[in-house]
Amino acid sequence: MRIVLLGAPGSGKGTQAKILMAEQNIPQISTGDMLRAAVAAGTRFGKQAKKVMDSGDLVSDEIVLGIISERLNEPDVENGFILDGFPRTEQQALDLEELLNDLEMPLDAAVLMDVDFDILMKRLTGRRTCSATGKLLNVHFSSPEEFEECRQAGGELIQREDDNEETIGNRLNVYREQTEPLVEFYRDRDLLKTIDADGAVDEVNKRLLAII
Ligand code: AMP
Repeated sequence: MRIVLLGAPGSGKGTQAKILMAEQNIPQISTGDMLRAAVAAGTRFGKQAKKVMDSGDLVSDEIVLGIISERLNEPDVENGFILDGFPRTEQQALDLEELLNDLEMPLDAAVLMDVDFDILMKRLTGRRTCSATGKLLNVHFSSPEEFEECRQAGGELIQREDDNEETIGNRLNVYREQTEPLVEFYRDRDLLKTIDADGAVDEVNKRLLAII
């Protein structure tokens, strides 16, 4: 299975990609996670990327394409992959198409995860990661048991630096202007599938499994 998860920031792409990765035994490839790893490593490139990411703008197509083409040449993508957060511009989608054609690994589907704007805001402003378990939690939606599990593991709740209201506003605008046109791009290629991504994580996962 070779799929792209499309959707606004906060639509649950990362959460669903992680579940699919465990269920289907195929890698989640998240350009956001890879860029954050470069930032954490403190490389010169990471420092440049951090400025752009903190503002909510997009890192250049050239840089993310370089990261993705290296990743898609690794052996673990042989049985498939889940692209999460890439492509984000039409140029990236065209480059991806060319790259996958060269590798003889065309996409099976692009799944649009559809969520209302006010829910996106709550998901993004409330999003936290447990430092001990790595699990994603949300101050608006997670249960007391989930917070307790993190506390028991000795974890702290960490908020992503770009999950503040100002940056979130810009990220949602950037999504509308630069990424949303990809819905038509994949519809034109007969690859688009849409799911309602509102609701509990396992419900959304069932809807996703049902269409792929
Ligand atoms: P994400 O974790 O997918 O929300 O990505 C976090 C940030 O990383 C984005 O706001 C962008 O600044 C950057 N980023 C991630 N993926 C891409 C991409 N495909 N193209 C450009 N910038 C990206």
